Amino acid sequence: MCLLRQTGEKNGLLGKGVLIMKRDDCIFCRLANGDVPARSVYEDEEFNVIMDANPASKGHVLILPKDHYADIHEIPGETVEKVMGLAKTMADRLARNLGADGINIVQNNGKAAGQTVFHFHLHIIPRYEGGPAMVTWEPQELPAEEMDAIQEQILG
Ligand code: AMP
Ligand code: ZN
Repeated sequence: MCLLRQTGEKNGLLGKGVLIMKRDDCIFCRLANGDVPARSVYEDEEFNVIMDANPASKGHVLILPKDHYADIHEIPGETVEKVMGLAKTMADRLARNLGADGINIVQNNGKAAGQTVFHFHLHIIPRYEGGPAMVTWEPQELPAEEMDAIQEQILG
């Protein structure tokens, strides 16, 4: 069930008249909006950045919009632009404050892609020299005709 609420009434940090669309049955809605405790490392009117409960590495965090969008297809483009701006801020901070040697930014959409929580979120995963392999795939080599056909399909 989707609920609209006047966040300004509940939280003095937020501007009056700001509406947040959240689902009470969604754990990330509840975490993002402070309805259940989270280890937050950044918060503003639209986003909460929390530590992943089962991190892939030291400092693995999740950018959560406070509004509920299941995935990349539902979230508005202008919100994604803000997510990417915030991803840079967080990546810079993780590199600086944790001494990460690299950063992976991962965003899963759909069960087939490994999404397990169906509220849009962006993983920011610090990487450290000598750490375990992750975010890997088996590179394929396809015949040129097949590449051409796929290109046509993508172009629509
Ligand atoms: P995904 O597979 O992209 O949907 O990622 C879901 C992520 O959410 C996983 O990395 C989980 O460890 C993380 N996660 C699930 N529940 C919680 C929670 N209650 N608090 C923090 N992180 C969570
Ligand atoms: Zn949600």
